[in-house]
Amino acid sequence: MEDVDCVVIGAGVVGIAVARALAQAGREVIVLEAAEAIGTETSSRNSEVIHAGIYYPKDSLMARYCVAGRRVLYQICAERGVAHDNCGKLIVATSAAEDEMLAGIKARAEANGVEGMRLLSAADARAMEPNLVCTAALFSPTTGIVDSHGYMVALQGDAEHAGALFVFHSPVLGGKVVPGGVELDVGGAEPMRLRARLVINSAGLHAPALARRIAGMPSQLIPQEYYAKGNYFTLAGRSPFSRLIYPVPVPGGLGVHLTVDLGGQARFGPDVEWVDGLDYTVDPSRSDSFYAAVRKYWPGLKDGALQPGYAGIRPKIVPKGAPGQDFVLQGRTVHGVDGLFNLFGIESPGLTASVAIAADVAAMVNV
Ligand SMILES: Cc1cc2nc3c(=O)[nH]c(=O)nc-3n(C[C@H](O)[C@H](O)[C@H](O)COP(=O)(O)OP(=O)(O)OC[C@H]3O[C@@H](n4cnc5c(N)ncnc54)[C@H](O)[C@@H]3O)c2cc1C
Repeated sequence: MEDVDCVVIGAGVVGIAVARALAQAGREVIVLEAAEAIGTETSSRNSEVIHAGIYYPKDSLMARYCVAGRRVLYQICAERGVAHDNCGKLIVATSAAEDEMLAGIKARAEANGVEGMRLLSAADARAMEPNLVCTAALFSPTTGIVDSHGYMVALQGDAEHAGALFVFHSPVLGGKVVPGGVELDVGGAEPMRLRARLVINSAGLHAPALARRIAGMPSQLIPQEYYAKGNYFTLAGRSPFSRLIYPVPVPGGLGVHLTVDLGGQARFGPDVEWVDGLDYTVDPSRSDSFYAAVRKYWPGLKDGALQPGYAGIRPKIVPKGAPGQDFVLQGRTVHGVDGLFNLFGIESPGLTASVAIAADVAAMVNV
């Protein structure tokens, strides 16, 4: 059996960022990834939005990590030439009731430390985005978009430069807590057993199931997983807007919003569809609800203009209808097990927050 210092399970954006932080702190790190490449699950099935940190409860991990992670993300992108655009976003109200919600959203954002939020009249908003119809809006200048794959490659490069090793086609099947660490059974073409002083479970949608397969991890502390699929529809032709356009939020998600990718292609979504399994097919009939939602702020959307795009699945740890759940970071102080650290429920804004999450994980494991 091979002995290693740290194993990170999962090479999504969060696992890569954690590997980078640990390696830069001088630890020996191996990343075990089941797939053939980095970021093939949720990290490549999202909106690629650099979130400002607007909606999350004050002092929540989501709020803190989003604001801190966003600032570092912009720095890393600038230094490393990762494609991004600090294009800004408009949250748009389309009724008197929604108008009243904007001031509350602004206050919450400011409590979270989000810079530069500005309430706009309908006329001001239209001056910025002539195709927009709204009754009022809230402008977030620090929101942007990023090439998420380019960002992951930059983080992976840093991690490798600091000595981390990425191993693909290496699904962790399970393990057990042993004195001085955790033993892991790794499948794939060349199955092996490893003993690590520290294991970081950053397996995204699979993190709770994987934790259940590690003997010695108290099962009552492992959350039940739930899946909330988010479907996207793309728009043929160039985007009618140059900034991101969001309605006021809905339960479970941020509402059917418009994001633009770095090539200028507009897409709408994600919606919220609670599902039992990991099926990424987009049902074309879901576009009906998209037309209605989008036409509230863009009546110019023509029949037939939306094409099924792609889908991502939010790694929820609370069921439909329950209040939102913060990120869950579990180390020894929570579960009492030496050498195991679990990351559960890392949904949006996990891409934006990844480097800040990683910094805290590295601090918490007492590097
Ligand atoms: C629809 C949607 C839209 C979103 N939009 C945004 C956005 O605009 N901005 C933002 O900041 N965030 C957004 N997010 C959130 C963001 O995408 C996630 O928080 C982030 O990608 C999570 O990264 P991760 O590394 O935790 O998980 P993942 O990317 O899922 O990575 C987990 C990895 O673990 C591997 N793995 C799993 N099990 C095993 C095992 N047993 N052994 C080895 N490897 C294993 C998987 O193959 C995978 O590569 C969105 C999420 C969704 C679903």
